[in-house]
Amino acid sequence: MKVAMTPPTLPPRDSLLRECAVAGCATTTHDAKPYCVDHVELTPYAHGLLEQLALQALEEERVAREGSSAVDLEGLTARSLLQQLELGPLSLARLARKLFLSQEVALCYTLALQEAGRVTSSSSREGRPLLALTGVRP
Ligand SMILES: [Zn+2]
Repeated sequence: MKVAMTPPTLPPRDSLLRECAVAGCATTTHDAKPYCVDHVELTPYAHGLLEQLALQALEEERVAREGSSAVDLEGLTARSLLQQLELGPLSLARLARKLFLSQEVALCYTLALQEAGRVTSSSSREGRPLLALTGVRP
């Protein structure tokens, strides 16, 4: 006896194909995405991310020029730095590497955050300076 298998109901593949929303771009997109891979940065989400990254880059340039007074304590870079230290104390060199910053710029951020009472500097058992969140013992 043959049992008829009912295939799972999925929308027909064709309904998930679209043309890229950019005028003059004839690329077909999949899964009902509005833009092709070449134009994906035009989605509001990607646009917002790129804008944030551009602002972050501008801030880091300003900090490199003007020092710790240019640090935005609520900005992305300061928040990323605090997130890194939440995982445990780090040396300045490691912190800079993790945040893709020069040590000079990373130092400006840690100085501003130290001044704001968010970060403390102490020595490890080997005597290396370590940065930690305020109130967390290395
Ligand atoms: Zn396109």
